[in-house]
Amino acid sequence: MKIKKIFILIILSMLIIPINANAKTLGQLRAEYDALEKQHSSKNDEIKYTESEINAAQTRVNSIYTELDQAEKEIQSITNEISKLNVSILEKDKQTKELMKFFQLSKGESTYLEYIFSAKSITDFIYRVSVTEQLSKYNDELIDEMNKMIDKNNKNIDNLHKKEESLKALQTELSEKLVVLGSKKEKLYDEYASLEEDVKNSKTIIDYYVKAGCSEDQDISSCAKEQLPPGTKFWRPLSAGCITSNFGLRIDPMAGVYRTHAGMDIACRDLSGGKVYPISDGKVVTVNYVDRGGYGKYIIIHHRVNGQNYSSLYGHLQSIYVSEGDIVTKDTNIAYMGSTGKSTGPHLHLNICPGLNSCMSTSDVTNPRNYINFPAFDGIHYSYFYDRTSYYK
Ligand SMILES: [Zn+2]
Repeated sequence: MKIKKIFILIILSMLIIPINANAKTLGQLRAEYDALEKQHSSKNDEIKYTESEINAAQTRVNSIYTELDQAEKEIQSITNEISKLNVSILEKDKQTKELMKFFQLSKGESTYLEYIFSAKSITDFIYRVSVTEQLSKYNDELIDEMNKMIDKNNKNIDNLHKKEESLKALQTELSEKLVVLGSKKEKLYDEYASLEEDVKNSKTIIDYYVKAGCSEDQDISSCAKEQLPPGTKFWRPLSAGCITSNFGLRIDPMAGVYRTHAGMDIACRDLSGGKVYPISDGKVVTVNYVDRGGYGKYIIIHHRVNGQNYSSLYGHLQSIYVSEGDIVTKDTNIAYMGSTGKSTGPHLHLNICPGLNSCMSTSDVTNPRNYINFPAFDGIHYSYFYDRTSYYK
């Protein structure tokens, strides 16, 4: 029964709330902001974890260097010990051989007999015989023992070499891990920086709609219609084109006398397909659909860029795709370039004015180059551009 009720509620709420994929409320913007914040902070955690992994691996790599050093020293000292033992063995061996030689040579001969029989007593005699035998036996045992020690030492060296090998393998493994972790960290930092930017933008947009007086569940595109959308930069009004006339004094192409050209002329329609865009986000304040001289068909847009008001005018248009009151972004295709009004061929005439005005009066109009990075034009050779991205502000 309960489940059935919930279903009915869901269906009812779907009927009540208009489904519009583009419509967003301030509440939804806040939820998006919270989600971004969460991603941002978890990215930070990820970075911290990766950094601790890097530190641990680096510390282990360093400690392996110490361990390898110690193993090398141990091998060296054992090798020294083996050399000493070898020298001792040689000495003892020589001693024994000499003793044996003495034994054999002296058997039945005077020296041995002399030694034995020069004993002062029978006790001394027995002593002299046994000392000679024991000495030889003792030396043999010593050599045996030393050989055993050499074997043991060699085994130790083998073990140390094995230890060294496995330490070196671990070090290689850790170095490879460090490379992977390093590039992971770099990527995380990039993602973190871009999330930080997203969070900042999201906050600016929320602040804007709060100031515009939007309530939490109101569609922001309708509640902010009275406000100018905030922009941060200016963009070229065409995706490509060529400058055919600068702002300033020039010989009027129609009247043949010197006159101030209030804006900038951009032609080469084929390069851009004639699609005209606003120089920044804004609100369309005037649309003139009638071709009656002057700017012909034109659009005036108001902008708010970095807290300052601006107006822009797009003249000599062939077709217009927006209406007065429309909120446009820099990517809204507002018109198709043409040759209406006082024009000798298809081109866009662009005016930019500080403040909110019609942007027609020569006292308002300023040089578009003050705001947009257009290529230099010498007045004779057309200068071309192929993107909208280059800007001064
Ligand atoms: Zn012009």
